[in-house]
Amino acid sequence: MPAEDLTPSPDSIQLTPNENSPKALFLDRDGTLIVDKGNLGDPEEVELIPGTAEALIMALQAGYRLFILTNQGGVGLGLFSRDEVEACHRKMFELLELPEGLFTAICAATESPVEPFTEQSYRKPSPRFIKDMIKECNLDPKQCFMIGDRQTDWEAARNAGIQGVAVLTGAEITDEQEAWLANNAVPQYRQLYQFCRTL
Ligand SMILES: [Mg+2]
Repeated sequence: MPAEDLTPSPDSIQLTPNENSPKALFLDRDGTLIVDKGNLGDPEEVELIPGTAEALIMALQAGYRLFILTNQGGVGLGLFSRDEVEACHRKMFELLELPEGLFTAICAATESPVEPFTEQSYRKPSPRFIKDMIKECNLDPKQCFMIGDRQTDWEAARNAGIQGVAVLTGAEITDEQEAWLANNAVPQYRQLYQFCRTL
């Protein structure tokens, strides 16, 4: 007789986002939640980074509200559509076996990377989405984190006045960036799961 698997599956865990909590995680998508494949417009290409579902469940259970902030400049460049970005999100939630409703909001910044920045830009390192959500959702900036694999993620955190966190599951971190992280007191974690264990 096979041993009973006692690991709780996401289905059996009571998961409800706490919509009154002042604590939040702002999560980069590519290189943080899913494998960074460059310009991603095909849902069949979506591949989870191991441990992502467990990390998100841990954060929810610690009372953090979840947001995604992803630069999708490929839309602005005409490489794929906003609908295709949303199809990739649906595929990601299907693979995670988690409902999209666990996230309070998802921002895909679709401005082209070659357009100049304006006050209206959402594209990281713009702090606009984070600042908007802090205000709209009554978040405490001291209890908010922006987690990502690129300098634009950490700069968005700094520009919004919240703590940045680096994960090593995406872009390679150069020596120059190592120095930037040290100077700006941004900690590094091997992957999202290791960071969420500290919450
Ligand atoms: Mg990334």
